Amino acid sequence: MALIDNKTELFIIESCKQSHGVINSELVNQLILQLECDIESLQQALLPIAATFAQAPISSFYVGAVIFDKQTGNMYLGANLEFKHQALSLVVHAEQAAIANAWINGAKEITSIAINAAPCGFCRQFMNELSTAGTLEILLPTGRYSLEELLPCDFGPQDLGNQESLMSHKKENIEIELPVSEELKEQVRLAYVPYSKNMSAAELVLTDGRVFYGRYAENAAYSPSLSPMSSVLSQLALAGEKLPEAEVERITLVETKGYENQKSVAQAVLTNLNGDSSLVHHVFEAK
Ligand SMILES: [Zn+2]
Repeated sequence: MALIDNKTELFIIESCKQSHGVINSELVNQLILQLECDIESLQQALLPIAATFAQAPISSFYVGAVIFDKQTGNMYLGANLEFKHQALSLVVHAEQAAIANAWINGAKEITSIAINAAPCGFCRQFMNELSTAGTLEILLPTGRYSLEELLPCDFGPQDLGNQESLMSHKKENIEIELPVSEELKEQVRLAYVPYSKNMSAAELVLTDGRVFYGRYAENAAYSPSLSPMSSVLSQLALAGEKLPEAEVERITLVETKGYENQKSVAQAVLTNLNGDSSLVHHVFEAK
């Protein structure tokens, strides 16, 4: 496996903080030349760096995941995020974080995912929602696997009559008449919600002006779905912000009228943030 020296590691970590865990194709190619390695070796070499973005106050088990997207040539990091004093079902797994990161930041075709530990059943199911589930390469410390090998006799979107999949579904070109940013409206239109139909996304603004987004990503097995609030907090964590210390100015959650299902979950995870980060909640009528 390629080895990254300390100076390069610090450079990559700082770069990832700026980009919210995205390593663009230019830097990917530069690192491949510098380390004289291939794509997969680079993904694996980046795992300890991805794991530095984990926040695991419950398990102290730091998981990193690194996705490669063939179309953009970018790599996308993910790390686990646990919430103190909340149901364990609300945590974000590293694989979910990496997939959501790739999805939010423009990946088109997730080709492979490297992980520093075996993916749990929940994450295998989350990966099964991807448009590339049939060809995805999963790179583990014990070797390379297809998803079919790790998830035989699967239950997936088609079992519920859903012909779409995460990363290949279409944007909903709907009007959203709400006093929120245009970017948040766009994130709502891009949500993947084939099961509940609740188009939903979240925007988090820090006091220094930096803005983060999260989108609702549903799953055929329902439970592994990633809520927009967990998604946006994962983006915050990938920027190197520690949840209890982040200076949050405003969090806005948008949901679809008549299909709302995210407010209580959002309020629960928000208790992990500093101060009185109150939630601005909007619902809109889908037309
Ligand atoms: Zn998992």
